[in-house]
Amino acid sequence: MAEFDLFVIGAGSGGVRAGRMAAAQGARVAVAEDRYMGGTCVNVGCIPKKLFVYGAHFHEDLQDAASFGWRLGQPSFDWSTLVGNKDKEIQRLNGIYERILRTAGVEIVHGRATVAEPQAVEVNGKRITAERILVATGGWPVVPDFPGREHVITSNEAFHLDRLPKRVVVVGGGYIAVEFAGIFNGLGVETTQMYRGPLFMRGFDSDVREHLAAEMGKKGVRLRFNTEITAVEKTDGGLRATLNDGSVCEADLIMYATGRAPNVANLGLEEAGVELAPSGAIVVDDYFQTSVPSIYALGDVIDRVQLTPVALAEAMTLVRNLYGGASDVMDYDNIATAVFSQPPIGTVGLTEAEARERRGALDIYRSTFRPLKLTMTPRDEQTLMKLIVERATDRVVGVHMVGPDAGEIIQGVAIALKAGATKADFDRTIGIHPTSAEEFVTMREPVPEPIPEAADYRSKTILSEDVRPGGVSA
Ligand code: FAD
Ligand code: NDP
Repeated sequence: MAEFDLFVIGAGSGGVRAGRMAAAQGARVAVAEDRYMGGTCVNVGCIPKKLFVYGAHFHEDLQDAASFGWRLGQPSFDWSTLVGNKDKEIQRLNGIYERILRTAGVEIVHGRATVAEPQAVEVNGKRITAERILVATGGWPVVPDFPGREHVITSNEAFHLDRLPKRVVVVGGGYIAVEFAGIFNGLGVETTQMYRGPLFMRGFDSDVREHLAAEMGKKGVRLRFNTEITAVEKTDGGLRATLNDGSVCEADLIMYATGRAPNVANLGLEEAGVELAPSGAIVVDDYFQTSVPSIYALGDVIDRVQLTPVALAEAMTLVRNLYGGASDVMDYDNIATAVFSQPPIGTVGLTEAEARERRGALDIYRSTFRPLKLTMTPRDEQTLMKLIVERATDRVVGVHMVGPDAGEIIQGVAIALKAGATKADFDRTIGIHPTSAEEFVTMREPVPEPIPEAADYRSKTILSEDVRPGGVSA
């Protein structure tokens, strides 16, 4: 008989959840972890990132407080306090994750595990047999190849900088890039974000992308679109990046946030016969089973949706199927997500472009306004809220927001979408006053037909390739 029923490689979001839920069902489980308990989310992802976002936002909060009568003197910021307190909190969470597993009866193996055979792993030179192996090894940042690549950092290092730089360049136009541009900018760093395409946040609703660009520009982030770095060199004063138009840009720190690749290198997967996609992602079926029947995989390493709650849901689905007698298939529809940019994005369902393609005629409800809290301040920050309604059925098929608390608000709205709510359901819901969220149940007039195509709307609201403070195009 194998030593374990389930051997999990990786104590991240998916691995910990699968390990402890399987143990709760009576399975004999071991989890191997070679770096940090809790994985990316706890150590170099969601949690420290959100703590940094809070830290950065105090900059504006302190300024705004003056309009409410608070006299605070000249505030100053100490990076080492933020990092130190963040580290303490992460250490506390590491301990909690370890305890959760032990309490559930899971054996924790500290070390790097590899797949030795379809039903055996190797850790710390020891071979351990298991009826099933679950690979939940997550992902790792990808930095493209260019001369001087060794001088740039990724989000992994950004969480542990000794000093806050004076000038930073953030490269990329996805979640991590906009979040860190907001963090650095809020902490007082001169921040430039470079993205290779014409407008960042590809895949998000066009209105959301444009609105965020305008608001980040107002806050002082220098957005440079259609821009790529071709080389980086070290200088006496810092770093010099050569750009695709031949110009140069000086900075003290360059952070790449250009995506994350599945963590599969030297795991013994191919040798065991596990099929990988060209991206490196482990190929699994609807039940998270790989091409080797005793080996399963989930979370970022299968590269479906790289979000912690998705890894958790995949783990629960797998455990229900393996040890609970179910044969459930994971439902990836209407997964809500928030981007903790400043201001943040909250979104669930289809973008307008997706909805037009899949649902035909639509009614679009769109509102931009200044949140009440800011009306007494000089801050000209606008919130965007948008509902996309399928005309034939009145179903709300997409809800998008850019503004304070967008993640908190959209989480509730996601329940309505999951339940199939119609616009009439939204309309008969009484609002909570005064909130920004109430706008979602009080929008009555659709955008008049013909609804401008996103590109037309874009040219009206902002922007070209370089948004500077004040949203001015250059
Ligand atoms: P991971 O959490 O990455 O865990 C994998 C674990 O496996 C790691 O601990 C690793 O050390 C271990 N491991 C790897 N190989 C081995 C081996 N051979 N032996 C032993 N152990 C091994 N998602 C959100 O939902 N919200 C957010 O706000 C958010 N913010 C993010 C911010 C950043 C900067 C980043 C990078 C990610 C963020 N994410 C966020 C994504 C989220 O962190 C991931 O989707 C999630 O952690 C994936 O979980 P996982 O279990 O698949 O992998
Ligand atoms: P994303 O996939 O979100 O974004 C990657 C960005 O890098 C895109 O703008 C992409 O451009 C650009 N890019 C890719 N390759 C290159 C290249 N060779 N040169 C220049 N630019 C390039 O990845 P992230 O690293 O930001 O984050 C990884 C994932 O982690 C996210 O997708 C998300 O699932 C998760 N995450 C979730 C968070 C949350 O829930 N709040 C926060 C942080 C991460 P293009 O669009 O043109 O391809």
